Amino acid sequence: MASIAENLEVVRQRISEAAKKSGRSVDDVELVAISKTHEASKVREAIDANQKLFGESRVQEARIKIPELPSNLRWHFVGHLQKNKIRHALPLFELIHSIDSLALAQDVNRVAEEEGLHPRVLIEVNVAGEGSKFGFTPDKLREQMETLLGLPRLSILGLMCIPPIAEEAEASRKYFVELREQRDSLQNEFHVDLAQLSMGMTQDFAVAVEEGATLVRVGTAIFGERSRPKRE
Ligand SMILES: *Cc1c(COP(=O)(O)O)cnc(C)c1O
Repeated sequence: MASIAENLEVVRQRISEAAKKSGRSVDDVELVAISKTHEASKVREAIDANQKLFGESRVQEARIKIPELPSNLRWHFVGHLQKNKIRHALPLFELIHSIDSLALAQDVNRVAEEEGLHPRVLIEVNVAGEGSKFGFTPDKLREQMETLLGLPRLSILGLMCIPPIAEEAEASRKYFVELREQRDSLQNEFHVDLAQLSMGMTQDFAVAVEEGATLVRVGTAIFGERSRPKRE
């Protein structure tokens, strides 16, 4: 079995090739190593291979893991954020990828106000309109964008999506294109800067980079299989 260092090397190489192929600079793409379900010792192996940015999807797990690790790491939250976990999450994460409803955005704004914080966030878009998924449908987002932008404590830096699970990486391409196009039209319509596009996971991150991802969220290709299901 390949080591975490070797896996990271392969993932970085593929990001770099995909960037080159699409005429982008590799410096415009950040790799978020998704360490959910994996122990701190595995994260340390990634740190030894020069990885500083990690992602978690459960607040309870992150609250245990993050304090066990060096304090110079950067952490992103990528899971569904429950209302009663907001207060714990805010100080741990420099970016929340997954603001998936107006109600959550308002709750995060309120807690941030109480705690004196200014969280940086992305808006999660349910690109395929799947009933089982969290996130704004494109129509809902357009309708609620003004209200979201009016929340004074939130810095909205961009959009995030999780396309339907598919065998082929190419199946995700159209959703990545849609997310980028929606970003472009929201920028025009609302005169805001939504520079960040969080898209691409183990099985489709190279395609995501080709379509403009600035943050790719890769777990399995770095740390190996998880024993628990994906979105826990
Ligand atoms: C688990 C998870 C990932 C990483 O998935 P892999 O397929 O293991 O790369 C990325 N994004 C989110 C939101 C996740 O929950």
